[in-house]
Amino acid sequence: MVLPPLKLRRDEVVPRFIRPLKEADFCWNINYNGYMFKAVDPKVNFVEMENKWLAWWQANNLLSKYLKKNQNSKEKFFFLDGPITANNPMGVHHAWGRTYKDLWQRFKNMQGFKQTFRNGFDNQGLWVEVEVEKELGFRTKKQIEDYGIENFVNKCKQSTLHWAKVQTEQSKRLGYFMDWDNSYYTMSDENNYTIWHFLKKCYDKGLIYKGKDSVPWCPRCGTAISQHEILQEEYQEILHDSVFMRLPLNDARGKPLKEEYLLVWTTTPWTIPANALVAVNPKIKYAKVVYEGKSYWLAAKLVPKIFPAGYEVKEKVTGEELLKIGRFYEGPFDDLPAAQKAKRANPEAFHSLVLSEELVSEEEGTGLVHIAPGCGAEDFALAVRGCGYPEMVIPAIDESGCYLESYGRFSSQNAKTAPEIILDYLKRHEDGRFLFRIEPHTHRYPVCWRCKTELVWRVVDEWYIKMDPLRQPLKKAAKEAHWIPEWGLEREIDWLNHMSDWLISKKRYWGLSLPIWECQKCKAFTVIGSKEELKEKAVEGWEEFEGHTPHRPWVDAVKIKCSECGGVAVRILDVGNPWLDAGIVSFSTLIDPQTAKVSYLTDKKYWAYWYPADFITECFPGQFKNWFYSILAMSTVLEGHSPFKTLLGHALVRDEKGEEMHKSKGNAIWFEEAAERMGVDVMRWMYVMQNPELNLNFGYRIADETRRRFHLPLWNIYNFFVTYAVLDGYKDTKIQRYKVDNVLDRWILSKLNSLIKTVTDSLENYDAYTASRAIESFVEELSTWYIRRSRDRVGSGAPAGEDKNNFYATTYEVLLTLTKILAPFIPFLSEEIFKNLTEEESVHLQDWPKANEALVDHELEEKMDLVRKVVEMGHAKRREAGIKVRQPLPKFSIFNFPFDLAQGKQFSIDKQLVDLIKDELNVKEVVVKPGKGELAVELDTTVTPELREEGEARDIIRQIQEARKEAGCGLADLIEVGLPSWPKKFEEEIKRKTLAKKLYQAEKLEVKCITSKK
Ligand SMILES: [Zn+2]
Ligand SMILES: [Zn+2]
Repeated sequence: MVLPPLKLRRDEVVPRFIRPLKEADFCWNINYNGYMFKAVDPKVNFVEMENKWLAWWQANNLLSKYLKKNQNSKEKFFFLDGPITANNPMGVHHAWGRTYKDLWQRFKNMQGFKQTFRNGFDNQGLWVEVEVEKELGFRTKKQIEDYGIENFVNKCKQSTLHWAKVQTEQSKRLGYFMDWDNSYYTMSDENNYTIWHFLKKCYDKGLIYKGKDSVPWCPRCGTAISQHEILQEEYQEILHDSVFMRLPLNDARGKPLKEEYLLVWTTTPWTIPANALVAVNPKIKYAKVVYEGKSYWLAAKLVPKIFPAGYEVKEKVTGEELLKIGRFYEGPFDDLPAAQKAKRANPEAFHSLVLSEELVSEEEGTGLVHIAPGCGAEDFALAVRGCGYPEMVIPAIDESGCYLESYGRFSSQNAKTAPEIILDYLKRHEDGRFLFRIEPHTHRYPVCWRCKTELVWRVVDEWYIKMDPLRQPLKKAAKEAHWIPEWGLEREIDWLNHMSDWLISKKRYWGLSLPIWECQKCKAFTVIGSKEELKEKAVEGWEEFEGHTPHRPWVDAVKIKCSECGGVAVRILDVGNPWLDAGIVSFSTLIDPQTAKVSYLTDKKYWAYWYPADFITECFPGQFKNWFYSILAMSTVLEGHSPFKTLLGHALVRDEKGEEMHKSKGNAIWFEEAAERMGVDVMRWMYVMQNPELNLNFGYRIADETRRRFHLPLWNIYNFFVTYAVLDGYKDTKIQRYKVDNVLDRWILSKLNSLIKTVTDSLENYDAYTASRAIESFVEELSTWYIRRSRDRVGSGAPAGEDKNNFYATTYEVLLTLTKILAPFIPFLSEEIFKNLTEEESVHLQDWPKANEALVDHELEEKMDLVRKVVEMGHAKRREAGIKVRQPLPKFSIFNFPFDLAQGKQFSIDKQLVDLIKDELNVKEVVVKPGKGELAVELDTTVTPELREEGEARDIIRQIQEARKEAGCGLADLIEVGLPSWPKKFEEEIKRKTLAKKLYQAEKLEVKCITSKK
């Protein structure tokens, strides 16, 4: 694709997160005190560590090795990226989806799948224009035209390219591995011309039409807002003045009824001058109420709500009967030329009562509804499609929301920004004859999604794709895909059931140039499907256009001959709806490397190899009507199928209290700040641990908790392993494991292989939530049970031999496998650990571990769970009795243990389980009685003098260990210890456990380091 060279302004510096490498970053696999592993910093700075790896990966060109890992693989996986709007820095809310995107691509890369790794940027559309307008200080479309469309469009290109660069750097900081030099841009020629191809297909199927409709309109942006751009979020609680009008009622021949009025309520007074009809519900009861000498017609049910005391109900009829009493009414603005014209066009319809069950209720207002078909979608539908009165569509305002010329004294005044002109007029005109009451009213009102200006409704010529013929095929295509969560499909089907035609035109400047050429003479139009077709048909302006991207103003120069009348056809000036840009990417972004062309538009081979996508993931809210919808729609028209097999949707990012983040509220967190303060591995872990269906609360407190709960325990395990491996002289990575007979080793290896299975299955089902929870609980058990119960197996106090060796071999394997499992989730910490444990280049070039089923022992896992449970119960008994763990006790009994540990097949394993309980609870004897009832325990708390002495010895050992640390002795240093007294019977044990060469009498505890093994 051809991109204009990008010149950054001086203040437009793209942040670079990659710091220069330091000498220390390279000290891998050097001999540290003669041992293989580099010492671990117990007070690790994770952020600093992440920045080190970013630099290292870059210096070692790791990304390109990662991207090429499976280039010759026969298996493929196609992740289709929904383009990120390149209009702002990336936020922490984007980081959630991008973590998922990275996670599954990394997982599949480790599994050996070939992939495209294409990131996408969304570049065209109003959002970019609005930013540039802000930058240039423009407020109207006229200012843009004065500045020049070419200049403006170039500015838009430059702006979006700038943000694409910023987002690229931010994504790299997140640890997101993509083919960053090969990102796709929706403003590219490839993308725009593929949309032309799509629109031509629609045209050939008769789906493109120019329609007049009442559309939501932003008076600031000067453009229509299409139905799917008005989301729930785009409604705000707004206080408006509502008006109760009294409209003099005439009979069926137009003769005035004496002092009889219709009472009509509206919340949009600016639309009153365009009033054409009043609607009543044929089924509702209406009452004639006499109040202060005048008679009013309104819904009977609403009378007490509107009138204070002193009214009298005279008569009740249904809406249908009301039409026989009165047919016509007078309005306050009947003298305006606009109203006069409508009256002349259809005197039978103008200011008449019409029936509508859908529009009229008796819940609020008066049960009589003001209808201005030129200013509202429902009003338009009722007048034109319901009653067949197209003449009643009285246009009211221009592009910027000002009343048209035909509005006499109001003309060129802004309808929305100066609503008082209408209210004041109603108050004054004929002494307020038409005004009953003005009442402030709060209601949910839509605003522009870009600039938050209140929307109005205008009747305009716009271009549409007919969606009715596509409704069933689209629903069929949506059902072909797998939606996660499942209700996503229901939401999509619901939208597909209710969608109206797709409004594709925008009266703007920067965007897809709709390839519609309209004859200036006969108004026939045609759609051009490619650049080549345009060249062939061009009769004028080709030279001006050639060499430019298919954007305004260049493409506007090209004129073609009308095939109907031979006249000159020019391009309609509208640009396209941006969801066309993002919706075409399943076709436009598969560029055949052999031809460098859009495969779908040429030989389709490369495209057919990848299509449809295996996986897409985006934030849910909004996308049902937007990206999910547009890729489905475009693929259904072109291929009749869903363009994706699995869709994973996720909810929104909120602040720590669950509130929306807003710049103005001061609770927004910027991505850079979060990355450098909490670290992206912590951020990523928060995202993967979240149930994607629920909004995620994001903040530093939650980040700290996450780190404490997961990253730090993991780091401590790793630190423990490396520290003792170095101490015990485990020199290299080829640690041999002997026969696995230690119950802890067997158990953790069983757990590890179960974990591999769980994580693999979960990730294959696109369930990061289950996967990450399983990993976190594994790390917790590794830390609080396996490592803790293994402490006595290592260090100078433990004998060298098979058991020690087995501990290192087992823990080494566990850590190595764990880093591979963690690599897609937390790419930095996993790399840090992996690189210290191996001589391999990177964990990110490794293959995904396979579970060894032979090592999975479900029965053992179950027994160990029970052991941990009874141990908890035992500790509770000790706490109850107020006896600390260091005091040995004679006996612990367990009742109703589901396994008979003395009889089982695995006798030696069972015996070791009993020993674990013994050691953990510090008791001399454990009795396990099998049974089926409720698990119960009993602790004998008798402390004999002998046990008391032993308890004292344990206390002393602990005090000496503390004192060793305080004295700064190394783990292997020998010491001499002075003590006031110690139980002589335990002297040898004290010496062995504390590495004391001798104990001597002293007034208080003192420790001297005497040698160092180092
Ligand atoms: Zn706007
Ligand atoms: Zn023509």
